[in-house]
Amino acid sequence: MQMLFEKTCVVCHSDKLVFRKKKMILGITTSPENFVCENCGSVFCEDELRWKLVSTKDTLSPVWQQFHQKSLYVREWLSIGNPEKDETCLCQS
Ligand SMILES: [Zn+2]
Repeated sequence: MQMLFEKTCVVCHSDKLVFRKKKMILGITTSPENFVCENCGSVFCEDELRWKLVSTKDTLSPVWQQFHQKSLYVREWLSIGNPEKDETCLCQS
């Protein structure tokens, strides 16, 4: 799963995206799996097989303004992050 994001943040395009495993205390999940960007502070939370952009420091980013709190598949995030490389339209999903 974590390789699909290629460690590249779709908000700031740095390679500082790190994967954090879910935290469990006494068998209860206290924090879901997520990706955190150490450059811009963006946080992507697991949301069933998708990823939701829940937080960022770069609130002026067009990616944040358009897609925050939306749950998208990894390939959809990748096409947002690399619009020239992948012309796949989001409306296909
Ligand atoms: Zn970032």
